[in-house]
Amino acid sequence: MRKCGIKAANVLAAICMSAVLMSGCGQGDYQKLETSSAAEQRDEAEEEEKREEDGQPETSLNDREKAMAPAPVFTDVSDTVYVAGNQVRLRTAPSTEGSSTVAAMVNSGTPLSRTGVSDEWCRVSYNGQTLYVHKSLVSTQQPKPQESAPAQAAGSGGTGAGQAVSGAQAANGSQVTLDSGWKYAEYSAIKSGAATLYRAEGANRKGITVCVNAGHGTSGGGSVKTKCHPDGTPKVTGGTTGAGATEAIAVSSGMTFSDGTPEAKVTLAMAKVFKEKLLAEGYDVLMIRESDDVQLDNIARTVIANNRADCHIALHWDSTTSDKGAFYMSVPNVASYRAMEPVASNWQKHNALGESLVTGLRGAGVKIFSGGSMEMDLTQTSYSTVPSIDIELGDKASDHSAGTLDVLASGLVAGVNQYFGQ
Ligand SMILES: [Zn+2]
Repeated sequence: MRKCGIKAANVLAAICMSAVLMSGCGQGDYQKLETSSAAEQRDEAEEEEKREEDGQPETSLNDREKAMAPAPVFTDVSDTVYVAGNQVRLRTAPSTEGSSTVAAMVNSGTPLSRTGVSDEWCRVSYNGQTLYVHKSLVSTQQPKPQESAPAQAAGSGGTGAGQAVSGAQAANGSQVTLDSGWKYAEYSAIKSGAATLYRAEGANRKGITVCVNAGHGTSGGGSVKTKCHPDGTPKVTGGTTGAGATEAIAVSSGMTFSDGTPEAKVTLAMAKVFKEKLLAEGYDVLMIRESDDVQLDNIARTVIANNRADCHIALHWDSTTSDKGAFYMSVPNVASYRAMEPVASNWQKHNALGESLVTGLRGAGVKIFSGGSMEMDLTQTSYSTVPSIDIELGDKASDHSAGTLDVLASGLVAGVNQYFGQ
């Protein structure tokens, strides 16, 4: 890191940090870090500190870009506009640069109280916040109901992706296995297990399904490899051993906390707490894993989420030992990667979901690492067709008591609410 830590070039720094820290593809990373020597781990910890000093690269870049653009001038108005499209981003600033300004995602027909207009932007009031939306994405005409559609809007009218399982199968606790006909299913190597779909039963049911993926916990997952990218290209963030690799471990075993607890145990406990809070909030929940072992690799987990959920949240803790706080793995700002499907059509949604989750965690009082994100080329991201994020809730030194997991779950639910505009 030090040899490439050129402060003036944040982009270069970001690439170098990627090279140091992101050796794997998918959660294979953690296994590599776990087996590195104590000296290497110390170096990594120092690099973490260094990065905190440098500031989070993506944010710094965005700030610079924003600083260069002239600020739009708004004329005050007072009327209502309607969102004209699905998964429209509401931002904290009138700028499309990056994902760091995305505060909420809203769907077609959502009414917004407009307080100002500029040449390109509308200033709106949404859930008590002053936010901005591009003029082309709203209309003063309320759209017809049939114009609202796909993704989580499949939830409108109470027919969420969860219910698409149909009839008896949609009963609580129904098993969801990998359908070999689903897109990218053939790339999975470990696929005999099943996820479980739970349906919210309260009057507040939203018809939105959240896939909760407890990271790791696939016996034998470390001895099988899968393709990093569906098109066979090598991963774009890579380190010493894994640079340019086209295949990675199907599911790694995860790290071990400083107190000796395996990460997979903690992600499972976290998933269970998160599930209960989501159900209480009215979300349906697709649980990837509910015991120590599920025979579903990262690709199988992702493809199941693609087809049975409206978003996919993988729970992890990082391999550092500095108790550095929570962050999400953002989509690398590498042109070839962001141009590759299904990343091209979905990366902005992934980052927006990550931003919402970090905002929710921060609001719950959770310590956030640096700018709240770190670029990473993950298997999960490379195959996701629904908003999908790997959230790192802390690291080896972080407290993972029941009380802490409860706070984390509350923050994550707040983030999900924000993302779906609930
Ligand atoms: Zn992990």
